Amino acid sequence: MFEGVAHPDGLPYSATVSSARHLTAHMRRVTFEGPGLAAFTSSGRPDERLLVGLPPDGSDRRSYTVRRWDPQRGELTVDFVVHAGGNAARWAEQATPGETVTLSAASGWYTPPADSEWQLLLSDMTALPAVGRILEELPAGSRAHVIAEIIEPADEQRFVSSADVTVTWLHGHGNGLTPSMLHAAATGWSRPTGPGYVWFAGEARTSREVRRWLRHELGWSPERYDVMGYWRAHQEEWTRRYEQVQTEIEAVADRALAAGDDLDTVRDAVDAAMERAGL
Ligand SMILES: Cc1cc2nc3c(=O)[nH]c(=O)nc-3n(C[C@H](O)[C@H](O)[C@H](O)COP(=O)(O)OP(=O)(O)OC[C@H]3O[C@@H](n4cnc5c(N)ncnc54)[C@H](O)[C@@H]3O)c2cc1C
Repeated sequence: MFEGVAHPDGLPYSATVSSARHLTAHMRRVTFEGPGLAAFTSSGRPDERLLVGLPPDGSDRRSYTVRRWDPQRGELTVDFVVHAGGNAARWAEQATPGETVTLSAASGWYTPPADSEWQLLLSDMTALPAVGRILEELPAGSRAHVIAEIIEPADEQRFVSSADVTVTWLHGHGNGLTPSMLHAAATGWSRPTGPGYVWFAGEARTSREVRRWLRHELGWSPERYDVMGYWRAHQEEWTRRYEQVQTEIEAVADRALAAGDDLDTVRDAVDAAMERAGL
């Protein structure tokens, strides 16, 4: 344990900023090191996420992706989207070498079935770190298409991969600016024949649209996709509304669980209740 740093529950690692710089116009790359990372281990999933406990005491914590973990150098890299109104974004913008944060263990979701002949990765700014790592770890001979919605052309990144990768950049929408175009872009993309896998990470409402498309319009079975809501646009307004209907939505989930529904069916019921409530 790194001496002098208090470790709040669930955040066993401490990490000291060794460098912080702009990677692209709205992405800040922060690299951490230090003895508090000695026991850190990767989950092995390229979209692995951990909680970053912000200074001064780690009680304010947010989810971020391990963009890179180098066990030889003991160096961990996280890419933070710079956006208005967020404590984590503000911290990353101002982070300087020597500052210390606390971190949780990491875990991820990305699991393409072994027979996947192609992959579609759908991402907004927040999911670019995971996409970068997924592509870096893809073996030669595999095939992936990325549709990434970014704030402006100066947010495009160059990915390194041994796989056969194509990228479509969508500029100027989503990302809290305007409604996302990711769902429309995904449904409009001509899918290759053969079994595939779709990975989506981005804004929560868009994740619901993408999941509905895969599960109910395409009728895919759940092992062929992983769809994650990483953040929520207008979070404060959404929370106010959610608090008014929370009891109702929890009752819908409880009824579905009591009926023995599987987790995907429970999620369908909760999504429908959220939509009825305008959430
Ligand atoms: C598994 C997982 C992995 C993630 N990985 C990353 C990552 O590697 N890099 C990364 O940058 N983010 C990542 N995120 C998203 C990140 O956790 C959220 O964006 C988080 O809300 C940022 O915290 P904050 O303190 O800056 O803003 P908050 O205090 O949470 O929110 C403040 C305000 O900003 C808005 N807001 C929050 N995020 C954004 C955004 N991205 N763009 C525009 N407005 C926003 C909210 O609606 C709210 O109005 C990940 C999330 C998950 C669940």
